[in-house]
Amino acid sequence: MKTIAHWINGRPQDSQSGRSGSVFNPATGEETATVAFASIEETNAAVAAAKAAFPGWRDTSISKRMQVMFHFRDLLEECRDELAEIVSAQHGKTLPDARGEVQRGIETVEFSCGIAQLLKGDNSPQVSTGVDLSSVREPLGVVGCVTPFNFPVMVPLWMIPVAIACGNTVVLKPSEKDPSAALRLAELFSQAGLPDGVLNVLQGDRIAVERLIEHPDVAALSFVGSTPVARAIYEGGTRAGKRVQALGGAKNHMLVLPDADLELSADSAVSAAFGSAGERCMAISVLVAVGDVADRLIPLIEDRIDKLQIGSAQSADSDMGPLITKEHQAKVVECIDSGVEEGATLLRDGRSIRVEGCGEGYFVGPTLFDNVTTEMRIYRDEIFGPVLAVIRAEQFTEAIEIINNNPYANGTAIFTNDGGAARRFQREIQVGMIGINVPIPVPLGFYSFGGWKASLFGSNSIYGPEGVNFYTRGKVTTTRWPDPVHRGVNLGFPRSS
Ligand code: NAD
Repeated sequence: MKTIAHWINGRPQDSQSGRSGSVFNPATGEETATVAFASIEETNAAVAAAKAAFPGWRDTSISKRMQVMFHFRDLLEECRDELAEIVSAQHGKTLPDARGEVQRGIETVEFSCGIAQLLKGDNSPQVSTGVDLSSVREPLGVVGCVTPFNFPVMVPLWMIPVAIACGNTVVLKPSEKDPSAALRLAELFSQAGLPDGVLNVLQGDRIAVERLIEHPDVAALSFVGSTPVARAIYEGGTRAGKRVQALGGAKNHMLVLPDADLELSADSAVSAAFGSAGERCMAISVLVAVGDVADRLIPLIEDRIDKLQIGSAQSADSDMGPLITKEHQAKVVECIDSGVEEGATLLRDGRSIRVEGCGEGYFVGPTLFDNVTTEMRIYRDEIFGPVLAVIRAEQFTEAIEIINNNPYANGTAIFTNDGGAARRFQREIQVGMIGINVPIPVPLGFYSFGGWKASLFGSNSIYGPEGVNFYTRGKVTTTRWPDPVHRGVNLGFPRSS
């Protein structure tokens, strides 16, 4: 069976660790490959390659770095379908969904093509007599990037293009569940002219990640994944003196007011809850229905759920694919069980779905609960599956309070035709990304992406201007080219004059 291994110093590298895991086709349960798990020594070797490449890449002209980025972007365009197929085969999402993921990744590359504009410094001439002040931003060095399974192309592209365009070198540790896309990205970068060692891909598990956290030559860590791991990486990385941005899990609420366009609300709720089988950090998992809206909205949602086609990514008719692993499927089913036991009303039950031709696939069908309360496990846990929980709130203020009391704060949306209510929501809600009649408000590549509270540890969101800020540090220079007139020694603190 094929072993998926590393990309170090500009070429594929077999694993020496003797440790590996299995990669499955989630639609059939069939094992398709093994994936190498890097040892500490292999992690050291990847960091050493990135460290050795750093001085040359940092000093490569901005124009050349941008040319690589433009070329890489063209290659991504050419390989869009191929990348989508790689994603679908190992993740299980449908091909249109995977193509959408590639497109969102390309947007960050396009942002990075304009890095020259973004790295311009400031200059203040004559801040004191004969004294000029200027600031520049410089790269950090070796950046460790650790990514989750659910966007094996997009999330690495949230990090790598910005980090590299800023002049850093990277060691990427993708998810062991769908490891192939990262290797293809590395090949394409190499084809685009990226020098050896600037981007290295290390397959592995927590052993590699823990080594990246403590390795003295890693200057910064970008992480996207679940909240417990994000918190541990933030704490471990900052303790080791590194700059860390760690994006965690989510529980995203969609608030629907009685005056909302209900057809739009139902379409949006179903798309955002069940797209990619709910395995999106911006998926809607809770619908907070205010006043009497639930009784009118739920039948529309049920109608739409009943029309969804569940199947493998290979079938052109599929709207929704399987979950990532057998273990995750079991966890989602167990969560649904808990909802029933705790007294929520199960309106659609995806637990026993069977998909023809996909006997052992990890499918859970779209599941809908009504009368959910904030004490229930299906509300408290990030299920990361196709489960939508409806909470009924009497008042708008009560709905806002529910959302603000949730420990996660990645995305949220309001559906209403009342501009005043939308404005109040936008101002009072304690969440990082907000949609107004938009269910999945993922900012484009020239903004930055990040939640609040348990959804983001660190002070910088990812990609966009905050990404540039994260991957660079400021240097301020005070310069005097004095007139030949010299004024002698002065022991006072420097001040402007
Ligand atoms: P995960 O936390 O299990 O794994 C993420 C990465 O961390 C993987 O590369 C994995 O190998 C590594 N890892 C796992 N356990 C580790 C440990 N104990 N120590 C060190 N490294 C470890 O997440 P996942 O299941 O791959 O992805 C789903 C999660 O990611 C969900 O919680 C989802 O909300 C979150 N996510 C968040 C965002 C965001 O932008 N906030 C985006 C995508 C996914």
